[in-house]
Amino acid sequence: MPSQLMQTEVRLAQPGKFDLVANSLSDPPEGEARIRIRRIGICGTDIHAFHGRQPFFEYPRILGHELAAEIVALNGPSELITGDLVTVEPYLNDPNSPASQTGKTNCCESLQVLGVHIDGGMRSEINVPISKLHRAASASVDQLALVEMLCIGCHAVNRSQSNKVDNALILGAGPIGLSALSFLQTRTKNIAVADLDEGRLQFCREAFDVEHTIKVTPGESLERSLREAFGGRLPDVIFDATGNRDSMLSSFEMAAHGGRIVFIGLFQGRVEFDDPNFHKRELTLMASRNAVSAEFKEVIQAMESGQINTDPWITHRLHLDEVPERFGDVISSPKLRKAVIHLDT
Ligand SMILES: [Zn+2]
Repeated sequence: MPSQLMQTEVRLAQPGKFDLVANSLSDPPEGEARIRIRRIGICGTDIHAFHGRQPFFEYPRILGHELAAEIVALNGPSELITGDLVTVEPYLNDPNSPASQTGKTNCCESLQVLGVHIDGGMRSEINVPISKLHRAASASVDQLALVEMLCIGCHAVNRSQSNKVDNALILGAGPIGLSALSFLQTRTKNIAVADLDEGRLQFCREAFDVEHTIKVTPGESLERSLREAFGGRLPDVIFDATGNRDSMLSSFEMAAHGGRIVFIGLFQGRVEFDDPNFHKRELTLMASRNAVSAEFKEVIQAMESGQINTDPWITHRLHLDEVPERFGDVISSPKLRKAVIHLDT
């Protein structure tokens, strides 16, 4: 006899307006688990959706894709058990798609991201595929809410194949740049971070011990500062975490000959570059989108072993019931790094 659970949902009805509603949730279908949400990380996508700036976004939508949760019920075989603390890999792919079959589940042709393309986790409980759950051994619920965001940086660093001989530059010290920085520091010591904002650079020096930080002035080349940081050389690998066209274009002029460029940030439009320069340097250009399953395990492991430090991240907290009233204020706070929604106290 199927049962229905009454629960609280926070729905983004239209840009700028959340509704708190009671709704029912059915038992999980075959292959899915019901999880009780404990924490929800707020990220750039949620902020863009709130402001009505997320392209192709449909309202109403339940946001929430950075989830820490506890398993309540499982409908299918699994090594997981009820009560396990988990995070959710929110990239729901079609296992039969060509990309999925080559292991690229992160960019499957019919990918649906929970909380973006379909309703996400800003609610008491949700049913999700068991295969998309990743268990913590000792990570806290706060840490589990940071896993998805850190996976974005982890995937970009894995794409770059960075190693200890590389000089590496990160353009943009927002959450995505910092998440790449966390993993890059496990690969190489030779890192520079560039940003327009001195406060963000100061944070990189203090919280992440970054030696070389470069304040960007629009229109001015970073070449001299980069050569100073890297003993006269240019960076072998550049991560763009700005999604700004000018920043992305500047990376082609700053990469060492034979270098790699990874675009993590997304620019909504065309980016045209000079082919003779691209060829002369024999550059490799990569996009980085989402992350794969193994990286969720990698991130949890790195947190649990202390290889990456998650202490500096969470700056703001609010309760699910407070979202309609406080969300706008929280995301416009100048001190915001990561806000986390609580469903318990
Ligand atoms: Zn996110």
